[in-house]
Amino acid sequence: MKRLIKYMLGYFDFLFCSAQSNELVVVNYHGITQKSFRNFKKQVEFFKHNYNVIGPNQMKFYFEGNILSNKPSLLITFDDGIANQYEAACYLQEQHIQAYFFIVPKFVLTSAEDQPSFFRRNIRPISYNSFVNDSRDSLSLTQDELLHMKTMGHSFGVHSATHTMTANSSNAHFEIVESKNQLAKILEIDEKELDSFCSIVDTSKTVGENDFKLIAENYKYHFSTFPGSNLSRNKHLIHRCNVESNFYKGELYFSLGCINKKWWKARVVNFSKKVR
Ligand SMILES: [Zn+2]
Repeated sequence: MKRLIKYMLGYFDFLFCSAQSNELVVVNYHGITQKSFRNFKKQVEFFKHNYNVIGPNQMKFYFEGNILSNKPSLLITFDDGIANQYEAACYLQEQHIQAYFFIVPKFVLTSAEDQPSFFRRNIRPISYNSFVNDSRDSLSLTQDELLHMKTMGHSFGVHSATHTMTANSSNAHFEIVESKNQLAKILEIDEKELDSFCSIVDTSKTVGENDFKLIAENYKYHFSTFPGSNLSRNKHLIHRCNVESNFYKGELYFSLGCINKKWWKARVVNFSKKVR
């Protein structure tokens, strides 16, 4: 029912609301199941047709105050480092698109046998069934896959150490700072190269005042779970629109549209006041 309402509102929104030419829209996916892969490709076609699709390097250029195109720009990101994102990474490479992948180091380091229970417990305790159709949907990307994705030109960021972060908890240093070193080792890079953190689940619940400071001290970019405009070019609170590969077109429009942003606005304002 909720999906149907979003579907209908989305079409309405699409007629009356469109992103400005100097806007950067950031979308975030989770798993890309095999069943929804064809739909994912259609969504990428839609992005290519309607936006200037950019990669992480051009995003950094945008946050330095540059306008990239006379079309709104769009960056694709993926959360959680799920194995089924590997096929999406290969497809995007064929399309000459580079994306951001936000990885949970403890998930990668968990044995393959234990990854499905880690996934269910830490990453997807809610709506598990709509994200898991086959075995790769609850496994982590392997180190080899991540290293191969690096050669494709994709970028990586830290998505906490264990995906259990809550606001102002005592293990903030482990989740925000030590996780950077863990991921750098997996990717075989210097940790200085990891300048992006992506908060988990709902930024308003998982990032407190202290966490926000710790993220800003240790990372240049903080990707949030808040939809909204990036016109203010605030690199410590990057807004992202949640899109899933099984979304119908109306749901996709809803996610990218104005109603969704307005819906979240009060929560974003409250959060910004809290962490200021
Ligand atoms: Zn996540």
